[in-house]
Formats: sequence, C-alpha cells, structure tokens
Amino acid sequence: QREILRRLIREPSISRDGVPVVLLANLELSEDVRAAQENGASGVGLYRTEFLYLNHDHLPDEEEHLANYLAIIAGLDGLPLTIRTLDLGLDKHVKYIADTLPALTNPALGLRAIRLCLRHPELFVPQLRAILRASAAGPVRLMIPMISTLAEVETVLQMLHTARRSLRRDGLGFDPLMPIGAMIEVPAAALMAETLARRLDFLSIGTNDLIQYTLAIDRMDDSVSYLYEPLHPAILRLLRGIIEAAARSRTRVSMCGEMAGDVRYTRVLLGLGLRELSMQPGSLLAVKNVVRACDISYLKYTMETLFCDIDELPPQQLLDQLAAVDQ
Ligand code: PEP
Ligand code: MG
Repeated sequence: QREILRRLIREPSISRDGVPVVLLANLELSEDVRAAQENGASGVGLYRTEFLYLNHDHLPDEEEHLANYLAIIAGLDGLPLTIRTLDLGLDKHVKYIADTLPALTNPALGLRAIRLCLRHPELFVPQLRAILRASAAGPVRLMIPMISTLAEVETVLQMLHTARRSLRRDGLGFDPLMPIGAMIEVPAAALMAETLARRLDFLSIGTNDLIQYTLAIDRMDDSVSYLYEPLHPAILRLLRGIIEAAARSRTRVSMCGEMAGDVRYTRVLLGLGLRELSMQPGSLLAVKNVVRACDISYLKYTMETLFCDIDELPPQQLLDQLAAVDQ
C-alpha cells in the first residue's frame, strides 16, 4: 500500500471526472516543510506558529519570526505558505504569558488565540509585521484563528493597515496584496460566514474546534470523546452553510482541521463542494488516492439528495451511500 501511494507523489490531484482538488500541508515546526515537499503538497494551508513561542524562554521578536518564516518559504520553492497568527491558550500555554493572565476556569471559552492577541498588541504587532515582511519573499497568506465577531476581523484589518504604513516608513518591503483570511472554527463565525467572507480573501474551516464548540464537547476530555462525531448532522449543516456562503461571495474556502486529512471523510467533503484540503503531510497521498478514484459530480448529486433527511441519517449510512457512487 505504501509503495502504491509513493507512486502518487508526482501524479496530479484530480478526480476521475477531471476536477482538481488542492492538497496542502499543515505544519507545526519549520522543519516539517520537508515532509510536506516529500508528500507532494501544493503548499502549506496551515502553519501553526505556537511552537515559535513554546520552544522559547522569551517572546520571539519580529526578526525571529521573520527568520523562521523565511526558512519555510525557502523550503517551499514558490509554493504558497499560510501563516496562522498565534493561537495560544487552551492546551498551549507559555509560562511567560500565562504568568500575566488570571487562571481560567474554562480556557476553551476564554482569552484564547485572536482574543489574547488583541488584548496584547505587544505580542501581536511584531508577528503581523514579520508576516507582512515575509510576503516580500514568497506567496504568503495570513490567517486569523478563533474569529467570533466581525469587529475582530475589522480590528485586525486596521492593525495590518497601520503595520503596512509603519513598514513603508521604515523602508521595509512587503506584498501589498498579501491575502488575509480567517479560520471558521466557532459556530458564530460559521453562521455569519458570508459577511466575514466579504471582508476577507479566504476562509479556512477548523473542524477540531468547530466540532468541539458546536457539539459542546471538550476536545481534551476523553470521557466525552465518544460524542465527537464529524458527521453529526449539525456539523454537516454548518459545513454546507460555510461552503455555500463562500461560493456566493466568490471567496476561496478550504478546510484545515483533522477531518480534512481523514480518508473516511474525503468523499463527504468533496460532495459538500470543498476543493482545497490541508492536512498532516503523512495523510496527503492517501487522500490524493481517494480524490483520484472519485467522481465528484456524482458525489455532489448524492450529497444533495442525502441532505433531504440528513438529521436522521446515521453516519455509517452516509459513508456507505457515498462509497457506492464509485462502483
Ligand atoms: C482546528 O481547530 O480545526 C484547527 C485546525 O486548529 P487547532 O487544531 O490548531 O486548534
Ligand atoms: Mg483551532
């Protein structure tokens, strides 16, 4: 099986009926860029920058951010790099920041990710400037995690505007058209995806958190993990809503949660209309293998039909019906 998958590295990611599907890699460390290349990724759909902070005993400054991003850009040979701004809080704690914050009763609902960054501009601004500067060296996109209000998006766009002005004053280069996107991983953002999409260049669905928040199950708590069901009808309805909202506003949409790299769900995601998936590099070839076996127009049609009584459809039946499409 591994050998068969290896042979797919140079093959295009295109369905049996000729629809291209972009397969991207998720990175946690800059070194992971090699694994992305070795598995034929078309770029990086999610670079989690938390490790820049977790592996340090001090706050990384603008130059340290920049050096890290430039190393990845160099390893990508012109392929796009999506840098997600800091998503600290929750499971990812950094002592020198945690010390300054009050203890949280419920970190998943607390001052996490973009909320923490907007509260601490001294943490956020150097990263924004470094991402902008990196965009002068290659195709870089900036992605904001945990958006739950339009005001958060507007504030970040305003801060980027200010950062561009200050970079110009400092004589430092950047790509003025660098795409700005948001993760859709809070139900509130999913429900207002169209409005968010109109302000942004792309959306990326974070199913790890979207499932946690929609189904009210702590993703760290094993005692409720039996309820963690990516094919829960409520999740499927939200996914469909986000994908349709993006299509209406002609905004690119991708998925970068674990669901995107799980071959059990590939047909579901293609049937829902996704054409861009970002995953751990180790999953890329197995997902490509499924993409190449699929007839996407049939999957779309079948998915539409199944949606008529989606609330009553057991997950396994949904999967069986979509798998039958290939036969
Ligand atoms: C997600 O929530 O799906 C996601 C990709 O982000 P993280 O797992 O880093 O929270
Ligand atoms: Mg998340």
